Amino acid sequence: MNNLGYPRVEINLEKLKHNVMKVNEKCVDNGITMTGVIKGANGLPLIAKQYIEGGVKIIGTSRLDQVFNCKKFGIETTYMLIRIPMISEVKDVVELTDISLNSEVEIIKALNMEARRQDKKHKVILMTDLGDLREGYWDKEELIKTAEWIENDLHNIRLVGVGTNVGCYGSILPTNNKLNELVELAEAIEEKIGRELEFVSGGATSSLMRLWDGDMPKRINHLRLGEGVLLARDLDVVYNYDMSNLNNDVFKIKAEVIEVKRKPSHPVGEVGVDCFGHRPEYIDRGMRDRMLLGIGRVDYGDPDELISKDKGIEILGASSDHTIVDIEDAERKYKIGDILEFEVCYATLVYITSSNNVKIIYV
Ligand SMILES: *Cc1c(COP(=O)(O)O)cnc(C)c1O
Repeated sequence: MNNLGYPRVEINLEKLKHNVMKVNEKCVDNGITMTGVIKGANGLPLIAKQYIEGGVKIIGTSRLDQVFNCKKFGIETTYMLIRIPMISEVKDVVELTDISLNSEVEIIKALNMEARRQDKKHKVILMTDLGDLREGYWDKEELIKTAEWIENDLHNIRLVGVGTNVGCYGSILPTNNKLNELVELAEAIEEKIGRELEFVSGGATSSLMRLWDGDMPKRINHLRLGEGVLLARDLDVVYNYDMSNLNNDVFKIKAEVIEVKRKPSHPVGEVGVDCFGHRPEYIDRGMRDRMLLGIGRVDYGDPDELISKDKGIEILGASSDHTIVDIEDAERKYKIGDILEFEVCYATLVYITSSNNVKIIYV
């Protein structure tokens, strides 16, 4: 096998490290500790390494096997599990990570027992749901009671903070008001347990908006950042923030042309369903130049999420292993064996770095 072939994803580690340093600097200037989140790029150890070299002390991910791989690779640091644990993985949570985000007493009990067995003290951050409706306590009193219970009754769990997550399911924005709700909750807990919490964890990349605007509540001292470092794209594209001091081209997909032909734009014959059982609409634009790429949905998920360098081409669709591209108005002439380059958005990134068919090349 020629492992330098296509399709491939090229990862520019220097550009990534630059992003890490810039974002971390901004965090440090605002009294914020950052957890570098690696799940967006399938937890590749070299991604974790750039975070560490860029000054980040905590690596976070949703998947324990990624922590395992990073440790095996030799990255010794603090690991944070940012998806609330499954009860079936409690043993590995305690073994592999130092801190986990939590929202269920039953799991925390199991973590405590396991930590005792392993003679460890596992740290937890209690999650509150401020309206985005994914993980976390909805009932604030219940959360505060849980905090007191951990503090007073559990010997192998240390409560290190409270956190929240927004902008994931419910599309809720991390406004100054929202984050102040988190601060109030943190202060209510601190009052009950009589000490300061180490972490008031104010969210993910979307919370960087508060740093950029300079209105982050003072008590927020921790963020869990993936997209804004790896791609630095969403805050710019969705919310118009100036991200120009960050690289948005750390990752590039390259795919090879395997067919170039002139064909009708409307399928010919009796129309049934496509290979996924759907009935798409096709527009008849007459005969058009088009090509096929040797890459497909299996490798990147949704073809609409690919960002082409050649602005004249149009991705018409894709099956599992083929991408169909209209090149009638392309900026250049394509032939068999040509390489097409795409930039990546967050939804694509996790697929492209997880696909067995896609070579990962570090540049
Ligand atoms: C994925 C995730 C993050 C990181 O999100 P980004 O938008 O990539 O910064 C942070 N916290 C939690 C709980 C997550 O699941």
